[in-house]
Amino acid sequence: MYQLSAKEIRDQFISKKVSAVEIAEYFITRAHTVDEKTGAFLSILDKRTLKRAKELDEKREAGKPLGKLAGVPIAIKDNMNLKGEKTTCASNFLKDHVALYDATPIRLLEEEDALIIGKTNCDEFAMGSTNENSAFKIAKNPWDLDCTPGGSSGGSAVAVAARCAPLSLGSDTGGSIRQPAAFTGIYGFKPTYGRVSRYGLVAFGSSLDHVGPFATNVEDVALIMEVMGAYCDKDSTSLDIPKENYLDKLDQSLQGKKIGVPWDFLGDLPDKSKQLFQESLKVYEDLGAEVVDIPFPELKYCIPIYYIIAPAEASSNLARFDGVQYSSRAEDAESLSDLYDLSKEYGFGEEVKQRVMLGTFVLSSGFQSDYFKKALKIRELLINNFHHTFDHCDVMALPTTPNGAFKSHSIKDPISLYLQDLYTTPANLAGLPAISIPCGFTEEKLPHGLQILGPQQEDARVMRFAYHFQKNTEHHKKIPSLFDKENLS
Ligand code: GLN
Repeated sequence: MYQLSAKEIRDQFISKKVSAVEIAEYFITRAHTVDEKTGAFLSILDKRTLKRAKELDEKREAGKPLGKLAGVPIAIKDNMNLKGEKTTCASNFLKDHVALYDATPIRLLEEEDALIIGKTNCDEFAMGSTNENSAFKIAKNPWDLDCTPGGSSGGSAVAVAARCAPLSLGSDTGGSIRQPAAFTGIYGFKPTYGRVSRYGLVAFGSSLDHVGPFATNVEDVALIMEVMGAYCDKDSTSLDIPKENYLDKLDQSLQGKKIGVPWDFLGDLPDKSKQLFQESLKVYEDLGAEVVDIPFPELKYCIPIYYIIAPAEASSNLARFDGVQYSSRAEDAESLSDLYDLSKEYGFGEEVKQRVMLGTFVLSSGFQSDYFKKALKIRELLINNFHHTFDHCDVMALPTTPNGAFKSHSIKDPISLYLQDLYTTPANLAGLPAISIPCGFTEEKLPHGLQILGPQQEDARVMRFAYHFQKNTEHHKKIPSLFDKENLS
């Protein structure tokens, strides 16, 4: 059962080859074993999932219409609210916080009869690229347990890569869906900004945050996006546009389409990564697409401006964690200001504190125009240049990451870690749809990702490019050998 796609699981459930309870029991058992080996989950929702599975079986017996995701197990990053369950954001601050309402994307999945099996591990408040910033435990890469699965949505990537769910949700502020997807050999899709509601996602950088899926194939990405990609009146930045039928558009030919590559931005790409990237482009050329060089000097500013704008927004968003309303409260505070200070001191980890301080600094009256406002201007320039670029090509291609997965705790210097986001931050700053596609293996036999970016609202186009790559390559079919078994022990 672990090898099945989301669509296949749904079909088997609908045609009564398997019951929802059987599906739930199978994947929950698998999730527990995978979690023991990898630390992928922060909670596995045994009871809740089985209860809902039973109800779903009854619905099927009663002959009622079944949803687009009927019986499909899905794991959720633990920074999205599922009513009545914990949302910890992998932070001590929220270790006991129980969600009061459902995040819109989760509500939409459950309305289509999906089975939410658990909440996954991540970097604290989604800040990081390795999952090492989780206050509770690290997550490990299923291809090599000594390596990081990437982050911040590391647990969601592991859940799908180790096949304890065919689909999971992550959030992507600067690359946190695409980078872990690349490191674990699966698909990770970041939609156009506003396509999927952020209502119920704990905010990190509100103008950069996106909810999106991990999957083992592009059809499942399209399927779940058909369910989640909907206008939501509870999110003021939600796009008020009709839902799309992504699945119907996947197959359209790529003949004559143009793929822009900013070669001037790829000068420092290590040899092996460059080779895999070039081989990937060749796949498209063989399908009749043309690769064109796109000069794009502004891309080199993405890391500096991302690491000004994201901490600035984070410092504002995280101000609400003051020890008064949410969860942890410093017991030894003697005054109100003590309560604020000490609650933050005890509740937040090092990376979060660092970002709040950096963000407060770049927003402070003396430095705002030197840093924050300047970063916003460069962001505007970047967005405009993307518009011009897409006059000359249909999509843009980049590697997802400069390298494959590395050993956990091996990169100590924050700047080197931040540079991991070199190729993913541009799509967040400009709100573009982008996908990471499994495109081969490094010398260490670890997966590598190709990234395709499209113009705003052209999510279907991005999926189509990914789909043709999938149809003509085999990389996505490989499952990490430790987990390529029906019964794990
Ligand atoms: N690695 C980036 C950061 O730490 C991106 C995080 C994310 O996308 N959530 O900010």
